[in-house]
Amino acid sequence: FDGMTLIDLAKRTGASIVALQDILADLGEKVESEFNSISVDLAELVAMELGVNIRRMHTGEGTVEPRPAVVTVMGHVDHGKTSLLDSLRQTSVAAKEAGGITQHIGAFVVEMTSGASITFLDTPGHAAFSAMRARGAAVTDIVVLVVAADDGVMPQTLEAMSHAKSANVPVVVAINKCDKSGADPERVRIQLGSEGLLLEDMGGDVQVVEISALAKLGLDKLEEALFLQAEMMDLKARIDGPAQAFVVEARVDRGRGPLATAIVKAGTLVSGQHIVVGAEWGRIRSLRDTAGNITEFAKPAMPIEIEGLRGLPMAGDDVVVVDSEERARMLSQGRKKKQEKDRLQKIDEDMTEEAEMAE
Ligand code: GDP
Ligand code: MG
Repeated sequence: FDGMTLIDLAKRTGASIVALQDILADLGEKVESEFNSISVDLAELVAMELGVNIRRMHTGEGTVEPRPAVVTVMGHVDHGKTSLLDSLRQTSVAAKEAGGITQHIGAFVVEMTSGASITFLDTPGHAAFSAMRARGAAVTDIVVLVVAADDGVMPQTLEAMSHAKSANVPVVVAINKCDKSGADPERVRIQLGSEGLLLEDMGGDVQVVEISALAKLGLDKLEEALFLQAEMMDLKARIDGPAQAFVVEARVDRGRGPLATAIVKAGTLVSGQHIVVGAEWGRIRSLRDTAGNITEFAKPAMPIEIEGLRGLPMAGDDVVVVDSEERARMLSQGRKKKQEKDRLQKIDEDMTEEAEMAE
């Protein structure tokens, strides 16, 4: 078949005719009637924007396999998030391969003696977590809540707890600075308990590990706890088929152009593919792993640096694979148009609000 009506597409995607017409308008296509036919290409782009893969609906689900957990570190300022990430990074695969020198690309992978691995997002902080979530990028599986043993629960500790809770992401507590003389991990436990965190040693299921990011104590215990948490969650992802991924960091390199570090959520990203990232597009010229080695493909939970985009995407942007350069350009244009429309609408709303306040 070489096309489908809007009614067909609405049935397959579960979206309303009006919603479909809106998306089509953003892609520069005007479809007046629900009985009009659109090309399969266009239908697929619309479905993609709705997060539905209509081709996949025929072929069924691909193979689902266990995947590593993706972990974010959060906690109050100065409680040791950056120090912890630095110490963990030194145990990462990249650090081992590169002899301790690693480039900051937004994520790193720690491999355990069992062969299992954990992916850490290399940007601590609540802003990044919230921004990603606000953009629909649910990449984090587990939050490490860092609490300094000498300072205890503080406002941003509570904020981190509430972020994790609203995102429905489990927490593993790392009581840090246990090397200090004023350290009182027991007090931290009691404080967390009274804030409603159901700690393991109090009959709940939230694991607590005592560490020192500076003295590098307890890091293996923390990694074990994260691995255990991941096992309980039974994390799985589809391995075959087109990749879905999210950008965790992006920058421009003078020689290589825009570079985006992304983490694959499902499917396999393959070098050479045409992609749309947020509102940008391009063709993957090269994929690099966290050690900077060129790789042909990336599987779920694997951070990779993508080279070949024509513009700079933002953290939280989604990466979608399309079949041709033409489609990539079309989807990117549609998204840019939509961004501009949203931006103008926002200005309009702000002005109306101001005018109302002035009255
Ligand atoms: P962040 O704001 O949460 O990223 O905290 P930092 O990692 O920047 O750490 C804040 C301060 O605490 C720095 O001076 C660190 O050297 C210190 N610090 C971090 N972890 C430890 C630790 O385990 N023990 C001790 N004694 N100091 C630490
Ligand atoms: Mg910091």
